[in-house]
Amino acid sequence: MARIVMKFGGTSVADIERIKNVANRVKREVDSGNEVAVVVSAMSGATNQLVAWCSQIAPLHDAREYDAVVATGEQVTTGLLAIALQEIGQSARSWCGWQLPIHTDGVHGKARIMSIETDEMIARMGKGEVAVVAGFQGLGPDKRISTLGRGGSDTSAVALAAALKADRCDIYTDVDGVYTTDPRIVTKARKLDKITYEEMLELASVGAKVLQTRSVEMAMKHRVRVQVLSSFEDKPGTLVCDEDEIVEKELVSGIAYSRDEAKVTLVRVADRPGVAAAIFGPLAEAAVNVDMIVQNVSEDGKSTDLTFTVGNADLERAKKVLEEHKGALGYEKLISDPNVVKVSVIGVGMRSHAGIAQKMFQTLASEGINIQVISTSEIKISVLIEEKYTELALRALHTAYGLDAA
Ligand code: ASP
Ligand code: MG
Repeated sequence: MARIVMKFGGTSVADIERIKNVANRVKREVDSGNEVAVVVSAMSGATNQLVAWCSQIAPLHDAREYDAVVATGEQVTTGLLAIALQEIGQSARSWCGWQLPIHTDGVHGKARIMSIETDEMIARMGKGEVAVVAGFQGLGPDKRISTLGRGGSDTSAVALAAALKADRCDIYTDVDGVYTTDPRIVTKARKLDKITYEEMLELASVGAKVLQTRSVEMAMKHRVRVQVLSSFEDKPGTLVCDEDEIVEKELVSGIAYSRDEAKVTLVRVADRPGVAAAIFGPLAEAAVNVDMIVQNVSEDGKSTDLTFTVGNADLERAKKVLEEHKGALGYEKLISDPNVVKVSVIGVGMRSHAGIAQKMFQTLASEGINIQVISTSEIKISVLIEEKYTELALRALHTAYGLDAA
């Protein structure tokens, strides 16, 4: 007997037919002798609607009330799924975050899970009852409902799997696994059988939106085996697991891209100690997330250009902050460009093999694509290029690294 957490995303519970379908799948797991806890998202589109209603009343609203509103989407689907299970003869009950409870910190709208009380749930699961738990929500230290940030149900599921010491956390979604790159762009993209936590983390953070980044961090920390699979088709998905579980490691496992990037260049910034701190300090205070950074060496020893990237949504705020501090920073002018894309090549094999970066640069060069910024980590190489080359770059790199499906 195994203990399994099954998570169903918004498209999997989008209407009554689909909820009935989910109930059948859940029952099948129970019938094969497993203890099952299910985590559900709100019906697809529901959370967007709830968020929009809050903003329509007040663009800047009380985050605690926002949480009270947006958490309702999941309350609906837990109750409906419990009814659907009971209807096919499977005992089940729904749990809101505050009922277990799932304790979170007090950052409303973006809370982190601190701990989950599972005693009663485990006792009931032991008697064959399916626990249907609302994703995305918890209980803050102020005794008010909290939510975990968009896409947070993935994190709820992994956290629950860790708390229950579950054998597996199966994430059912509208894609059937993790691909070597975006299959909508590269038709030869392949589904991966397995991928390491670290690679998945890099893929998630650079824009492969299969799993919420935080859920992967949590899975890695607690060594929860996560399987991503389709809720519409019966076929194996992708297992996100420890490196030891992967026998044949690829040099490069995946190529990700993020269009949500904007480039900022400060022309002729003074080249002296403290300047970087003076620039990035105020940006951090304004909650602008800075990603890639390059600073040129100055020719005259006095001034140099500094380029960095921010998320598209943060560009205007970043510009405003930098313009406010122009006097203190003493740069000549500010240039920005939202039409850039970050393309990243990811693989744990990079740690022990040379030449992987070179292949990337060579491939882009032979397509005539100019690289604007480069950054690397132990298992990732990222380049910033003009957005219009996204498709071309992805296809060329996918072929160059031998990832194309036969
Ligand atoms: N319903 C929430 C959202 O749309 C959480 C989730 O689905 O993961 O972001
Ligand atoms: Mg999702």
